[in-house]
Amino acid sequence: MSTLQSLDVSGKRIFLRCDLNVPLKDGVIGDDGRIRASLPTMEYLLAAGASLVVGAHLGRPKGEIKAELSLAPIAVRLSELLGRPVIFAGDNFQEQARSLAPGEILLLENLRFNAGETSKDETERATFAGVLASLAQGYVGDGFGAVHRKHASVFDLPALLPHAPGFLVSAEVEVLKKLTQNPARPYGVILGGAKVSDKIGVISNLLDKVDVMAIGGGMVFTFLAALGKDIGNSMVEVDSIPVVKELIARAQTLGVDLRLPSDIVTAPAFSANSPATIVSADDIAEGSMGLDIGPTSAKDFAQAISTCATVFWNGPMGVFEFPAFAHGTKVVAEALTHVTGISVVGGGDSAAAVRSLGFADSDFGYISTGGGASLEYLEGKALPGLTALGL
Ligand code: ADP
Ligand code: MG
Repeated sequence: MSTLQSLDVSGKRIFLRCDLNVPLKDGVIGDDGRIRASLPTMEYLLAAGASLVVGAHLGRPKGEIKAELSLAPIAVRLSELLGRPVIFAGDNFQEQARSLAPGEILLLENLRFNAGETSKDETERATFAGVLASLAQGYVGDGFGAVHRKHASVFDLPALLPHAPGFLVSAEVEVLKKLTQNPARPYGVILGGAKVSDKIGVISNLLDKVDVMAIGGGMVFTFLAALGKDIGNSMVEVDSIPVVKELIARAQTLGVDLRLPSDIVTAPAFSANSPATIVSADDIAEGSMGLDIGPTSAKDFAQAISTCATVFWNGPMGVFEFPAFAHGTKVVAEALTHVTGISVVGGGDSAAAVRSLGFADSDFGYISTGGGASLEYLEGKALPGLTALGL
């Protein structure tokens, strides 16, 4: 397996792809876990005499420059954490990169401001990758949260330069391998969060690999709707209902213990102070929306987790950012801390959730920086960013 140590970096300019996609609101960084997770590789490369051109993305600007998605605040935090200056790239980034001395770091602006980064058109991506390649003499891939994306800086660029995985990517793969190669059973997966369409493929592919699957979060309402229940104004993806119906039927055929919440915490509006009411999942009132799984369901999910020897969890059970709707997430997190086998928490918001609820990273077997990436790995898919690194 290729390793970072095998790459010759001394005196070289290294393009380091990181995942610095942290929660950011009004320019203020929430959980900086992903920045911290990038530090060991940076420190190693700097100590080995390299200069760094760091590339990363923030959010989904879709090829347009969006001031609120600038990486400028991240340059500041990164500099604080590293204890050394971080140059933030301007329009003259090519010149800035060329004049880097060993030990210096240049952070590029949000790569996704350029349409070439995420383009489905190979030529467009290749052109952007070429621009990035001209900045450096070697490539280190350490942005685990983005390795499932066939993007220029993740997939096309490493092919143009001598390359190696960073420490974070290697560590993530090591852990996920344990979950895919003969996991200790029962094997449970707990899913929540907001991105239903992103995760439906994952659920489908994981169904024949797991013993237990529990679903909460915003995506559960598409499941409840598929079961014919009224879901009021809850988040839903109507287009996905037919597929979800098939998933529910398949779970039954496969004998997977599919757990959906029996009670829901609802509120009239999506806001921190909206009054919370616990209702049966069969009685979500018109005009109200589900913002968390109810306490009975949380207990049920915790019980399911306690029977498992291997557990993977991605996606908060509710809108944990609002304390009144964080209970389900907290109960599930707590249950995970008692798993005696392997427990892995994956996903940017999931990691942020457990930290903001007062848990320590060491309470869990492993906190993955990647949500979508770790899920796709568990599905057994080839991930473009890992393939490109020879992993
Ligand atoms: P991750 O980043 O861990 O992969 P996602 O990005 O898929 O997770 O989802 C996280 C988001 O889901 C959180 O911001 C949370 O507020 C939101 N969420 C959870 N439950 C609900 C719900 N019932 N309604 C709306 N949003 C929800
Ligand atoms: Mg997220």
